[in-house]
Amino acid sequence: MAAGPGIVYCCPGSSAEELEYAGSALSEPLMDKRRTEHLISVPNSPAPGGAKREGVVRAEVLLRTPEADLNEAQRLAHIGNWSWDAATDAVIASAELYRIFGLDPAAGKFPAYKEQRGTLYPVESWDRLNAAVEQTLRTGDGYELDLEARRREQQIWITTRGELVRDAKGRIVGMRGTVQDITERKRAEELLRESRDQIRLISDAVPVLISYVDTERRYRSCNHAYTKWFGLSHDEVIGRTMEEVVGKAAWKTIGPHVEEALAGEVVDYEAHAHYKTGPRWIHAVYTPHHDAQGRVLGIIVMVNDITEHKRAEQALRESEERYRYLFESIDEGFCVIEMIFDQKQKPVDYRFVEVNPAFEKQAGMHGATGKRMLEFVSHIEPHWLENYGRVAMTGEPIRFADEYKSLGSWFDVYAFRVGHPESRRVAVIFNNITQRKKSEIALRESEERFRMMADNISQLAWICDQLGNAIWYNQRWYDYTGTTFDEMRGGGWQRVQHPEHTERVAVNLRRSRETGEVWEDTFPLRGKDGKYRWFLSRALPIRDEQGKIVRWFGTNTDITELREAEAQLAAANEQLASRAKQLDTLVQQRTAKLSETIGELEAFSYSVSHDMRQPLRAMQQYSGILLKDFAPDLPPEAQRYLGRIAAGANRMDRLIQDVLTYSRVTRDEVKMEPVDLNKLVCEVVEQYPGFHRPAAEFWVQEPLLPVLGSEAVLAQAISNLFGNAVKFVPPGTKPQIRVWTDRLSGQPGDLGEPERVRLWVEDNGIGIAPEHQRRIWEIFERVHPPGKYEGTGIGLSIVRKAVERSGGKAGVESEPGKGSRFWIELPAASPEA
Ligand code: ADP
Repeated sequence: MAAGPGIVYCCPGSSAEELEYAGSALSEPLMDKRRTEHLISVPNSPAPGGAKREGVVRAEVLLRTPEADLNEAQRLAHIGNWSWDAATDAVIASAELYRIFGLDPAAGKFPAYKEQRGTLYPVESWDRLNAAVEQTLRTGDGYELDLEARRREQQIWITTRGELVRDAKGRIVGMRGTVQDITERKRAEELLRESRDQIRLISDAVPVLISYVDTERRYRSCNHAYTKWFGLSHDEVIGRTMEEVVGKAAWKTIGPHVEEALAGEVVDYEAHAHYKTGPRWIHAVYTPHHDAQGRVLGIIVMVNDITEHKRAEQALRESEERYRYLFESIDEGFCVIEMIFDQKQKPVDYRFVEVNPAFEKQAGMHGATGKRMLEFVSHIEPHWLENYGRVAMTGEPIRFADEYKSLGSWFDVYAFRVGHPESRRVAVIFNNITQRKKSEIALRESEERFRMMADNISQLAWICDQLGNAIWYNQRWYDYTGTTFDEMRGGGWQRVQHPEHTERVAVNLRRSRETGEVWEDTFPLRGKDGKYRWFLSRALPIRDEQGKIVRWFGTNTDITELREAEAQLAAANEQLASRAKQLDTLVQQRTAKLSETIGELEAFSYSVSHDMRQPLRAMQQYSGILLKDFAPDLPPEAQRYLGRIAAGANRMDRLIQDVLTYSRVTRDEVKMEPVDLNKLVCEVVEQYPGFHRPAAEFWVQEPLLPVLGSEAVLAQAISNLFGNAVKFVPPGTKPQIRVWTDRLSGQPGDLGEPERVRLWVEDNGIGIAPEHQRRIWEIFERVHPPGKYEGTGIGLSIVRKAVERSGGKAGVESEPGKGSRFWIELPAASPEA
């Protein structure tokens, strides 16, 4: 800043003459009294009220001398002036100029123009100044320059102005000008620029979109983030309206908020807006900018793109929802526990932070959230605490299955650390596997029992897979065969089988495998002593739930002894059979002999009985003659004896007749023929006067059905039944007899059985007690005393014999006092016969 070329040496100590000289030589401006007066006229202006006198006094002081005034004015304005004599290069400077450059006027002249290079001005500054001076000298146009200068090694800034000075003839004699110290302004400007730069730097550095929008909704400034966000350059944003920059759709969303801010409100909001660049979530704050009068000049817009944040929030929410869903819906028990350690860092208990709905069912604990485990159980088994404690401390997840004795359950557990390590929280996913464990234990026990049994049964036992490969043998097998499993694996067992049976057994086995039928075979197996023993082998298929055969369980029962016993038994049986045959022959021979003897006996008894009748008849006849012809001559006692002899003889005769009849019925050949019972019954009744009215009454329910039999034999049987019916009535009762037949159809299953006819003879007699109803059919058996009812006890035996020989049977239904119903049953004859 420099004093331009100066000719006038001007300082507070300069004489008036010097100044005058200078003034006359270099024209007016520096000494312009008019301007000086003007400069001081401001403080001299009328003061309000009675201050006028004081102002005048001050003005007088201030206006002491024109030089002093000028100096003061220059000092206040930090402007010094100079003149330069082109001929001598000397510079005359005002006092202020000395001050600006930190020079002492008393110390010497002001440096000449060329001396100033590198002293008052750094070289580049002086060169710029010189270029301007030379241009002025060339063109005549003045210059004005801001330049860096020096004040005692200190950097200062000046504004220097210069113009030509001509003499009266218009020739250039030099130049004059001013130098203004603008260091402070420059510093202030510098500071301001720096501060602006910092603000811009900061505003560009922050990831927030910052802009300033005026009342016409036009951007006045914006930061780098703003332009980048919209993909525009700074110039493409500045001066354009918000609507143009953000796009119509986004403006619809944000416009109302902008209006609100322009109305003077601070607006803070979140919105989802569709910008030209795409849909985004934003958080915006609009702060109105007021002037001193409170009018809104514009708004400061600060926008945060929170799309990612929102997305993360959404993702978190979804993740939380998924977690919740899983938490609520899984069947596994789930809980988060907080481990509690003692001072030695040993886990002693834990607290339930969170439990899922399945927790209660799985753990069997209710309302666990917030409670400690020791509130549920009196003791926690150490290994559970250690496991969880280790997970909390190391963060290494753990999976294990164990029994929780104090809960009486087994659990399958997966535990892992959650949250910060310091929180010592462990998430536990678990399943109550008590049932499964019990089943496993039961299965193991059952397997043990099976093995125990299988190894101790007297049979050899084995298991094959579905293809017939052996996968297991019991201990007996190894004990007997002296082999190992490796030798017997698969089809190895055939090595101990008798070679003659191998093929047959293989065929049988294959058939069973194909049909699924129980396999059974008998063949010898070789023992470890090299000897073969016979075994009965059986195998049962074991099926899965679908019925598919998965295994065969087989046994080999040693039947060597059984076979020997069987052989012995067979020999014994043979012996027995031949003995039985001998015996049979013997029996036949003896029976024949016996029959012969019986025949002889029967013939003998018949002939005896028959022959006995001759003397008996003589007894009857002679006793009769005696009674008839000589009775009057005999004493009464003799008559009585005679009567008894006659009666005894009669009785004997009846007995003999009955015996003969029985014998005849027994021996005579029975010729089966159709018998008309109507006719036969009629004849029997007619034959015996005792059956006629009024002695008795017979009702025959005709027609009686025809039967097959021997007529003579049947006539005998029927007359015996009728005789008994008439005889066994209470005294004074008239016998009343009913006779009828029934057809008996064959019983179901009696196919081919001939039809039968039953002839019933019902009386109104004394009846027979049930206990006697069997024995009356035996020979000589009688129920009623002979004194009351005459008889020989043979009649019913004749009936039975007669009927049996005709292929029939006889029976009675009776009750004492209620009459009897005798029946005989015979094969039916066809009605036409
Ligand atoms: P008898 O008639 O000669 O005594 P039976 O052999 O005919 O011999 O009968 C045996 C016994 O059966 C009889 O003595 C009698 O006691 C009893 N009895 C047979 N028929 C009848 C009947 N119709 N009513 C009651 N009792 C009878």
